[in-house]
Amino acid sequence: MEKVIIVGTGCAGLTAAIYTARASLSPLVLEGRMPGGQLTTTTAVENFPGFPDGVDGPELIQRMHQQAEKFGARWKYGVVEDFEAGTPHRLKVDGLWMETQSIIIASGASPRYIGIEGEEVLIGHGLTSCATCDGAFYRNVPVCVVGGGDSACEEATFLTRFASEVYLIHRRDSLRASKIMADRALANPKIKPIWNSTVTGYLTDEAGEVSGVHVKNLLDGTMSELAIKCVFVAIGHDPNTGPFRRSLTTDSNGYLVQVGGTRTNIPGVFAAGDVADHIYRQAITAAGQGCAAAIEAERWLADFE
Ligand code: NAP
Repeated sequence: MEKVIIVGTGCAGLTAAIYTARASLSPLVLEGRMPGGQLTTTTAVENFPGFPDGVDGPELIQRMHQQAEKFGARWKYGVVEDFEAGTPHRLKVDGLWMETQSIIIASGASPRYIGIEGEEVLIGHGLTSCATCDGAFYRNVPVCVVGGGDSACEEATFLTRFASEVYLIHRRDSLRASKIMADRALANPKIKPIWNSTVTGYLTDEAGEVSGVHVKNLLDGTMSELAIKCVFVAIGHDPNTGPFRRSLTTDSNGYLVQVGGTRTNIPGVFAAGDVADHIYRQAITAAGQGCAAAIEAERWLADFE
């Protein structure tokens, strides 16, 4: 019987691991298919407090991992397949059921990419899903954003601080985004919408960095090439909540609902980071929630015993 199982090893999960380990709870941390989470797909992280010269995403994760390990966190590679709420709670991990008094779910969200063959290798080389993380690397060069929702408009507007032009490539002729965000984006002279179009392929330079995209006009089928230095894909995220949806309350997009602090609707089950947050999605906010979830789990366990 575990006291606390932490699902996920991104910023939220690792911060929860540091705090619960320091509280002598000997947490068991489950590393899933993408150890380290979304930070492992970025290069320099310039907005995490305490690193004035920036820090590599994977290095930051590695340091958090070491810190948690130093205080006694334990690790297990495993993919959660099912969850049953109860006393104790049960998690099915790679076919085996495990029992635990409390769970901190920090399984994150996965950004959607377009689905073009081979695009995984371009992530971090001119293909990204995070303008806040990577926008500042593309100063005075053209970039494009793919999508038509609030994220796409927000990212495009943010990118105008750096890029010379921001092409907004959307598959329809109107934006799904809220009116205020759509109006703000379309009023920006640096944002140039390309309507009724999709990206069908990437062009790369000798260094393997993205140098352009193939664009297909969906109305007449014509193809064109657009020279840009980075593609920001903003076509939504999918929270990694599959095994929990049967028991835990989620919103209409599948994100876990926090009913107060980081508590979920099931006592002893806490949610932290992008698995429950579709608004901020930052490493530092995820870390903050991981800390809060650990403190709440510790208090809950004290009452439980
Ligand atoms: P979203 O609202 O689901 O929009 C996704 C966009 O991507 C849509 O325009 C969609 O096109 C397009 N798309 C989806 N799959 C595509 C594909 N395979 N190829 C090309 N385009 C594709 O996602 P989101 O913008 O990330 O927003 C998610 C939620 O977070 C929303 O509730 C949003 O309001 C919220 N959000 C809020 C803020 C804020 O308030 N500051 C900021 C960001 C997000 P169609 O329009 O044709 O479906």
